[in-house]
Amino acid sequence: MIAPAARRHLSLRISVTEQCQLRCPYCMPAQGLPAASGEDVLKVEEMVRFVQILRRHFDLAKVRLTGGEPLVRRDVAALVAALAAEGIQDIALTTNGELLADAAAELRQAGLRRVNIHIDSLDAGTYRTLTRRGRLSRALAGVEAARRAGLAPIKLNMVVLRGVNDSEVVAMARFGLERGCEVRFLEVMPIGVAAASHREWFVPSAEVRHRLASAFDLEPLPVVPGAPSRDVRARDTLGRSGLLGFISPCSQPFCSDCRRLRLTSAGRLIGCLARAEGPDVSALLKAPHPGDEAGLLAAIDQALRLKLKDHCFADQRIMATVGG
Ligand code: SAM
Ligand code: SF4
Repeated sequence: MIAPAARRHLSLRISVTEQCQLRCPYCMPAQGLPAASGEDVLKVEEMVRFVQILRRHFDLAKVRLTGGEPLVRRDVAALVAALAAEGIQDIALTTNGELLADAAAELRQAGLRRVNIHIDSLDAGTYRTLTRRGRLSRALAGVEAARRAGLAPIKLNMVVLRGVNDSEVVAMARFGLERGCEVRFLEVMPIGVAAASHREWFVPSAEVRHRLASAFDLEPLPVVPGAPSRDVRARDTLGRSGLLGFISPCSQPFCSDCRRLRLTSAGRLIGCLARAEGPDVSALLKAPHPGDEAGLLAAIDQALRLKLKDHCFADQRIMATVGG
């Protein structure tokens, strides 16, 4: 039985693949992850089947596609189109942007509305070091393509790491303001490969905000229930303004009103990033039988019950396998 309280609004993140062409050191092991066999990865129609069932029982307005790097999968535009055909109005993508230049227009046409692009540095050398193999020019071309395609809003995600890119927060905010993109500063979480260096890397959002206040006038905006980001409107001395956001899972956990459910590419349902465990529904999605819907609903209920009251990062699973 689904608890009555759970029959409310849900937002779904689908991690479409664990694979990524980059190797950010707080997310991926240097050698990457072993490739899953094709049979173990959910197909577009299996993901859509899950969404159809979810929609029959929950108020599901938003689906975000993530990974790994979602754009390394060639059928992402087909998935977006299928979700749009199911009536999902708000389809979003989280990407490192390096493959976006060639994909943005097609994704927009398929029904993608908005995009979060992860860029940790505007210095080509630091960006290269941080991704272990990426190219800043490709990510920036992705941002421009997203703007040209009319994806909106475009949010730029920067994970702030002490001694690595923390000196760049003002430059990143200016970059966003100049392009009409919101910049969101993320606290690094001690998940998976980040656990060992967390103490050394961690910069609390309050410190980032303090640095930004030296360059911008910051006006706090009302908190949006369920949103992980605390936003401010920033104005610079030239009168330009834009949004900045702070995502603070460590210093200010936002667990109490979290209504996010994750479906991994392997078909596991995860209620909470910090404790990446949950029921495996792949068999129910791959070979459906009459009566399976009850099993799926029980699994959803189980995943939602595994949500934590506070992030405690009990699980050390690699972030890319869970879907950030
Ligand atoms: N590849 C895409 C990307 O980089 O945006 C999507 C997947 S990635 C796992 C999603 C987000 O998780 C990115 O913004 C990334 O910076 C963030 N992330 C990964 N590991 C993290 C960690 N240990 N702490 C905080 N954020 C993390
Ligand atoms: Fe890839 Fe995104 Fe993880 Fe970086 S954060 S390694 S881009 S999945």
